[in-house]
Amino acid sequence: MVNARNANLDSAISIASYVIHQLNNEEFNIEEWLSLYDYYEQAIEKWKQPNRKTLVHDYIEAVYLEEQNYLLRKHESEEVIKELKELLDNYEIDYSIIGNASIDASDDVEAYADKLQAFFMDELLDVVIDDIFTVLYADKNFLHEFNRQCAEVIKQLEVQNHPEALKEDGVIKRIKYYPQWLKKGVEYRDKLRCSLCGCDLSSAFTTLTDENFDHIIPLHAGGNNDPSNWQITCASCNKSKGARNSNYKNIVFPFWELSK
Ligand SMILES: [Zn+2]
Repeated sequence: MVNARNANLDSAISIASYVIHQLNNEEFNIEEWLSLYDYYEQAIEKWKQPNRKTLVHDYIEAVYLEEQNYLLRKHESEEVIKELKELLDNYEIDYSIIGNASIDASDDVEAYADKLQAFFMDELLDVVIDDIFTVLYADKNFLHEFNRQCAEVIKQLEVQNHPEALKEDGVIKRIKYYPQWLKKGVEYRDKLRCSLCGCDLSSAFTTLTDENFDHIIPLHAGGNNDPSNWQITCASCNKSKGARNSNYKNIVFPFWELSK
């Protein structure tokens, strides 16, 4: 099977819930993150053109490392070591190569925490982030809020500074070409059903067109082209939603009906 791996959902779910918490926290929401990290140019690139490593991946990475570095700055190295070892064990990665720290020597512990973090970033960080992304990509509440916050930033961009990304009215340009990997990913996630009315579009599998790929936050409402802002809708819902309406649903499709 292409692109399959053993996910570690226990770890991913617990970190994903922390990421959701931070998105709703004034101290590290999208606006704060972009401004603290001076991340505007990278964000605009991703709003302009879908990238496999989405802006949500970048946000997860920032939230996760920020929390770890905060603990390291506070000299709570043991906490970080415990967290990293747990993750490395969960993913069955052998870290014996970096040795061990003696428990009484605090300098030693701090140096060990730094080494362990560097090792983790080289060996595992990208996979952990993508597992967390896999959890969050199924959560339309999160995706809607993420892109709603992005829209607040996009609406404040100066058109003359970003002529490649923005139209004259300040709206992000619509992409001309919809990458296959993106369409496939959105189709799999939405199980070929309309995200708004739930109707089954699988019989139309071969005829699904670009029109069925809808921006959760419409471009005219500050939306963007990052993969986190796409969903499948049927032609009728797409039409009735209109160009500026950001209403969304987080419908689920149980695997079977509980009682029949
Ligand atoms: Zn529909």
